[in-house]
Amino acid sequence: MKEIFLCKYGEIVLKGANHSFFEGALIKELKFRLHKYGKFNISRAQSTVYIEPLDDSIDLDAVFEALTRVFGIVTIERAAVAEKTMESIEAVTREYIPRFLEGKKTFKVEAKRADKRFPLKSPEIAAQVGGFVLSSCPYLRVNVKEPQVTVKVEVRENGAYITAGIFKGAGGMPLGTNGKALLLLSGGIDSPVAGYMMAKRGVKIDAVHFESFPYTSERAKEKVLELAKIVTRYSGSMLVHVVSLTHIQEELVKNCDEEYFTLLLRRYMMTIAQRIAEKNDCGALITGESVGQVASQTMQALAVTDNAVTMPVFRPCIGMDKEEIVQISRKIDTFETSIQPFEDCCTVFTPRHPKTRPELSKVLEQERKLDFEALVNEALEGETTVYIPADI
Ligand code: ATP
Ligand code: MG
Repeated sequence: MKEIFLCKYGEIVLKGANHSFFEGALIKELKFRLHKYGKFNISRAQSTVYIEPLDDSIDLDAVFEALTRVFGIVTIERAAVAEKTMESIEAVTREYIPRFLEGKKTFKVEAKRADKRFPLKSPEIAAQVGGFVLSSCPYLRVNVKEPQVTVKVEVRENGAYITAGIFKGAGGMPLGTNGKALLLLSGGIDSPVAGYMMAKRGVKIDAVHFESFPYTSERAKEKVLELAKIVTRYSGSMLVHVVSLTHIQEELVKNCDEEYFTLLLRRYMMTIAQRIAEKNDCGALITGESVGQVASQTMQALAVTDNAVTMPVFRPCIGMDKEEIVQISRKIDTFETSIQPFEDCCTVFTPRHPKTRPELSKVLEQERKLDFEALVNEALEGETTVYIPADI
């Protein structure tokens, strides 16, 4: 018996004339992610991508696991393939379906006849397959309104697909279909989640990390690169630009009022990030900020930060509670790395009483005490770049 995967896509279907662009991106991503498992025939029809393993030794559980991380797929069905005769459909149903029905009490059958040459109509197929299931698993009852399991039969061009294993996909949109953006990646919980959420919307990601050596350590940077690597499981390969803020921070401490340190530093970060983004074809910046979470994330502070740049700043965590962000970080497996205790450049030289309702004019007054442009350029000159291949 042969098993295949049917991946249904959601939003892409809505994209009208552009939908072949989205489908193309999805197929390209699937090929990229699956090639290490073996050879497949990947085809598409009626809002579904069919993934047919061409070699018996392929580890289908591993393939399934990989598919759950591909954005653009709404549901993944594992199906068995039967020939387009009721005899073959019966044999495959009896062999394949009972495993999905263990411990269940109710089921229904949905049938779809896409190949109109098949002699039975959909309701007739459903009735017959229902009979096969009932005789294989006599403890079951049919419940068409609220079944615990739905058995699906689709008679298509290349065969009849029978399944009861329908799983949730990663959702979102295929990678790269919504441009590229630069993620400001700290070692915390929020920014990897922010990167994941934008990748889910089809945005390719590069990252910038700011360090403040020797106030921050080499281990702190390694932790960030480790986080970047976990994010690449979803977002694909990325460049991580590493920029030192040490000199800027030292100058801030020497010359500016303490209560403005963090705000001023954030304006430097955003400015440097925008310059890197522009050089690398990124159309937006991404941060893990959430309104009210800390002093630099009040509405007024965010306005002061935004004022430093002209690019759109995407903050997908902006309306989320910490607990919600933590939930996602656990799901994507960044949490355990994020909570390792290392210093961040934002946590060295933190003001005792940061301004929570800053006035832009006062911030700019402070900013003029330093040669902003010269410090930005100096930081950019020291930039190093690390390539993180997709950890798939
Ligand atoms: P996070 O989990 O992202 O560290 P946080 O609550 O600690 O969040 P802040 O430290 O105030 O937040 O930083 C807010 C955002 O600024 C981060 O989500 C991240 O996008 C960016 N950021 C902070 N520190 C750095 C850094 N060292 N390098 C790059 N970006 C940073
Ligand atoms: Mg942080």
